[in-house]
Amino acid sequence: MPNPLYIGRFAPSPSGPLHLGSLFAAVISYCDAKFHQGVWRLRIDDLDTPRVQPDAITQQLHQLDAFGLGWDGEVYYQSQHTADYLAALYDLQAKQACYTCHCTRQMIRERQQGQVQYDNFCRHRHHPFDLQQAWRLQLPDQRSSWQDQWCGKQTSPQPVEDPIIWRRDQIFGYHLACAWDEWAMGMTHVVRGQDLLAASWPQTLLRQHWHPSAAELVYKHHPLLINQQGLKLSKSAQSQAVWPNQGALYKIAQILGVADPLNAKMPDQLILQAIQDNWAKIMTDFLIQNTSEQSSTSI
Ligand code: GLU
Repeated sequence: MPNPLYIGRFAPSPSGPLHLGSLFAAVISYCDAKFHQGVWRLRIDDLDTPRVQPDAITQQLHQLDAFGLGWDGEVYYQSQHTADYLAALYDLQAKQACYTCHCTRQMIRERQQGQVQYDNFCRHRHHPFDLQQAWRLQLPDQRSSWQDQWCGKQTSPQPVEDPIIWRRDQIFGYHLACAWDEWAMGMTHVVRGQDLLAASWPQTLLRQHWHPSAAELVYKHHPLLINQQGLKLSKSAQSQAVWPNQGALYKIAQILGVADPLNAKMPDQLILQAIQDNWAKIMTDFLIQNTSEQSSTSI
């Protein structure tokens, strides 16, 4: 029987096949869930249609399968839940937690001397709600802090930048869909890369708007893999598809410091070994070696 107190997930965007960086994220969230006898679900973040690659979903599912990363239950496709997101968006409108924004990037840049950080210009302009325009979540200005289990105490940024939850091109914003799904899928733990560390705050606020009595999520953000040029793997030449025969899991096991990775003959053995070797200790040591708040591991 899986542990009902741990429901985790891996949530790739199908903008291409899994590369070493995304496989690294999948392995870490899988091992963490399995070490806690938890459930590991798969969510496909396929809302951003201009970025979705036609064959990427099939390929990602094949890759996870080939690496022995079996998910629990049905695959959850965000594209099948747009009616829920729309209701969630209107709920925020009813709660006066969001507003319509007319600013283009160009307008923001001109006001901000070239910077793209949004200055919450439309926050108090009371534009009529209009789905032809972008909608933003209104964030509180006062500082708040929260605990990330792997990165420690986090504090909200100053000044705050109200994030887009509905895009002018008629696509739901990442925070809205992600926060809704964590609740809809019954998540208890969110394990993902440190590039999304700051996302926990707006996503927690959204959860509190919709479901104020829902239990808080446990967040764990892991260091990212970067290439020799210091680029996140997804943006680099090494973002090619990975398959078991290329030794990708062996490389990941080495990076994480799994003992004697060469003893494993099959990918799933390597993962089992990491879990049995004491996953919590492997991860603690790995995090100590990659201490800074936003850290990364060069490959
Ligand atoms: N789909 C996002 C990505 O591939 C991850 C979302 C998440 O884990 O919250 O970067």
